[in-house]
Amino acid sequence: MVVLKFGGTSMGDEHTWRTVLDIIKSYQNPIIVVSATARTTRQLIAAGETARDDLTQALEMHNAIKQRHLSLIANFLATTASGTNNEIKSACTKWINERMQVFENLLKNIAADKIFTAHTKDAVASIGEQLSAYLFAQCGRAYGLPMQWADARNIIKTDDDFGQANPLRDEIKRHSVLLAKLSQEDKIPVMGGFYGENKQGQITTLGFEGSDYTASLIGAALQAEAVEIWTDVSGIYTCDPNVVSDARPIPHLSFQEATELAYFGAKVLHPSTMKPVAAEKIPVFVKNIFEANHPGTKIHQEQTGTAWAKAITYLHDIIILTVTSRGMLSGHQFLARCFEELHNSHIPVNAVTTTEASVSVALQADDVTEELCRTFEQVGTVTKEYDQGLISLVGCNFSTARDIRQTIFTAIVDDTPALISYSKTKQNLNVAVPKTQLIPAVCRIHNTLFKKTG
Ligand code: ASP
Ligand code: MG
Repeated sequence: MVVLKFGGTSMGDEHTWRTVLDIIKSYQNPIIVVSATARTTRQLIAAGETARDDLTQALEMHNAIKQRHLSLIANFLATTASGTNNEIKSACTKWINERMQVFENLLKNIAADKIFTAHTKDAVASIGEQLSAYLFAQCGRAYGLPMQWADARNIIKTDDDFGQANPLRDEIKRHSVLLAKLSQEDKIPVMGGFYGENKQGQITTLGFEGSDYTASLIGAALQAEAVEIWTDVSGIYTCDPNVVSDARPIPHLSFQEATELAYFGAKVLHPSTMKPVAAEKIPVFVKNIFEANHPGTKIHQEQTGTAWAKAITYLHDIIILTVTSRGMLSGHQFLARCFEELHNSHIPVNAVTTTEASVSVALQADDVTEELCRTFEQVGTVTKEYDQGLISLVGCNFSTARDIRQTIFTAIVDDTPALISYSKTKQNLNVAVPKTQLIPAVCRIHNTLFKKTG
């Protein structure tokens, strides 16, 4: 059994739905996980935010989402010859009306309370997948496939951390039997990714791009042969192809490398996707619906060493925050305090370097608030290096590639980088450079390193 996940662009319109259905047709007993149709999640959340001060405009946004789904169904069915089209159309229309009524009520509550809580935000955001999964299953039937919608609320059980809920793996394993059962009856289960439910029966979400994570959770729970993430590019690339024109798909990545890439700005996979599948050694493929025969990227257990590096990725808008000890605390006390404050702040740290008397961390600029700086002032003297970018070389074999240092550092800048960190075990090299030099440096490094590896 294989779990196939199709993202927002694959769910874009009636043409891509057809392309996706043709792909599904070529599998035996697949399990399908889908995202919301393209842009829907963002528009749902934007409507929720607008409702706080302008209900009329929020309801217009609501209507646009509704009309888009109604036309998608009408267009799909208009070009699909099936004896059950009328039945399917009325089931779809009823579903859209019901979901959109729920959405409208949520918007009215937000407008009345003037607050868009994390809890309501998840209820709002999940509507996209509730729509796409049910409608896609119905249209699949019109297309002749035995599809059956399965509500993710019955399977993806989570804790209460709204917006970034943690899945309860044992519960999910227990409930995913429901999917296996449908599959044994030769049905093709279709479920929405991204959302689930907590113990109180409230809707939760797994964070942006969370449908990848859903697919991986289901793949692990059912011990699938593979999880396939279908998107609109042929795998994970050596660098963002919009920035570096000769970037190319990477044939093999280890779970660790794929995770590092997801954390360091490559927007291909949800960063937690690898956790469930890596534990069960289930391979993940990243493939392109528009080029279905291209092998894409295979992510698996084996080390897939290379002489240089696997990929280069980067983050914009970084501040390097350095805390230097005032000598009041012993070395280990000082380090412990710094990391304790980082832990308490819940802020993602992109890279760290330390000496006994100082700690430098690369943080997203938005996260460096005055409050955070005040907290660190209590531990030591705080200095900040603004307008930085962070370049990350993933799968970087720094030790064997002798001239890699020279390649990288001559490719970067004349200035001394504000931070460099390298982990031999993780094979990850991070270098902070001034923001103005970020993209040129990324291009130069890519040209030098990836041309050489051939
Ligand atoms: N629709 C959700 C998002 O846009 C989840 C996903 O597509 O993976 O983040
Ligand atoms: Mg994605």
